[in-house]
Amino acid sequence: MTVAMNDLSTVRPATRDFLGNEHKNFINGDWRPAIGGKTLAVIDPATGETVSRVADSDAADVNAAVGAARRAFEQRQWQQMKPAARERLLHRLADLMEANIDVLAELESIDNGKSVAVARAVDLPCAIDCLRFMAGMPSKLNGSTLKPSVPFLPDAELFAYANHVPVGVVGAIVPWNFPTLLLTWKIAPALAAGCTVVLKPAEETPLTALFVAKLATEAGFPPGVFNVVTGYGHTAGAAISSHPGIDKVTFTGSTEVGRLILQAATGNLKKVTLELGGKSPAIVMPDADLDIAIPGAASGIFFNHGQVCTAGSRLFVHKSRFDKVVEGIADIARNMKVGPGLHPDTDIGPLVSKVQQDRVCAYIASGRESGAEIIAGGDTPGGGGYFVNPTVFVNTRPDMKIVREEIFGPVLVASPYDDIEDVIAQANDTPYGLGASIWSRDVSMVHRLAPRIRAGTVWVNCHNVIDAALPFGGFKESGWGRENGIDAVKAFTETQTVVLSL
Ligand code: NAD
Repeated sequence: MTVAMNDLSTVRPATRDFLGNEHKNFINGDWRPAIGGKTLAVIDPATGETVSRVADSDAADVNAAVGAARRAFEQRQWQQMKPAARERLLHRLADLMEANIDVLAELESIDNGKSVAVARAVDLPCAIDCLRFMAGMPSKLNGSTLKPSVPFLPDAELFAYANHVPVGVVGAIVPWNFPTLLLTWKIAPALAAGCTVVLKPAEETPLTALFVAKLATEAGFPPGVFNVVTGYGHTAGAAISSHPGIDKVTFTGSTEVGRLILQAATGNLKKVTLELGGKSPAIVMPDADLDIAIPGAASGIFFNHGQVCTAGSRLFVHKSRFDKVVEGIADIARNMKVGPGLHPDTDIGPLVSKVQQDRVCAYIASGRESGAEIIAGGDTPGGGGYFVNPTVFVNTRPDMKIVREEIFGPVLVASPYDDIEDVIAQANDTPYGLGASIWSRDVSMVHRLAPRIRAGTVWVNCHNVIDAALPFGGFKESGWGRENGIDAVKAFTETQTVVLSL
């Protein structure tokens, strides 16, 4: 079912004003056009129309931003700022984002295609929470004291301490599916640790990062501490991951690009955190409460139009309940309203770009050609935007592309299983290991099953539940390191040991 076109005349004047600007990079507290003079179009995926323009940066712009970040780091004004003062700045930025939440939600919706109501209720509050959670960390970033007993210095009186010092200049590269939320997952812990940052948003969704930069100036961040460079991955992104002046790259995106980042980082052996792709299983046990499991598993795949790294894209249902669960999810899919993000009735907005729409449609075609059966969706509603109807496949085989590869769209593949060993083997039969969900009322079974699923997060009777307090990241090819949780700040530090002979 489709609803009407995106209507930009309905957005707030502040949103319209922001869209109307030709945006520049934010470097050293100034707004600077790309040195090469190029710009790139920001497209509304609901209509395919250009709504704004941003700088199309390359290595020279990244170099300028890294220079500013390096100077801000070396001048030590930021590093030596009292922890409580750094905390206040992060809180101020969170407060400003909250004060501008409606504009940020509209920009996110127009830029990415997602429902403005979802951006307002999920993306932005979670982003603001992340800033507030990490704002509490600078004053709690304590090290340890140690009493060494060195065998070759039997008479020495020694004392030592180990401190967490900021790693330095951080390059942050983020994708388009949760542009504001994921930027806070990077900048909040990095700034809390005392690092300076060069952020590159995805070329498809640069607007909210630029808006946040504007708010950072208002909050009073010193120049150079937080910089934003917009542009493509193969130019601006690659310049960040290979730059010798960057000490750490924190990346969220595809596994394929994660490998390129890793290779580029070898030049100066920069530290790397990688949050990559997924093909997460949702496992419905024979005793599951289906009133919870059916809508829950549907939301696990269709939330954010399936463009979620932890999307529950592989559904495994015990054979005794398979038909009922799959028909229930297909029924939800058939009744979802597909439409523009600004429309209040929209359940599923457009995918982020034509490229993504074509990619997802090619996967659907491949599923059909390889013999899988479509019981909901499988097509697009037409029109100018990049929409794909929510789709459910059954009669799949484990070797099919739609079962093995990350589709990153509203496409579910469902398979029955016989017993617990069978479902563990099928759930783990993937190079990814980001998320998983188990739907069951049997607490003892859940505790036995969860540790056997090779995934960074296992949800029980829920899916895609994230929070700044919960460590998040992947096993296997889903990444390196963890974001969120109290240890996330430490990932932006080096441990420095100081040994004193008394
Ligand atoms: P992508 O890897 O194509 O792009 C992500 C970012 O990397 C963008 O900013 C892009 O410009 C940049 N980039 C592209 N090529 C680059 C290069 N050669 N060097 C440096 N930077 C480069 O991913 P995407 O299509 O934007 O996002 C979808 C992917 O992100 C999916 O695979 C999804 O699973 C993953 N993702 C993972 C998480 C997580 O936390 N694990 C969260 C969200 C998305």
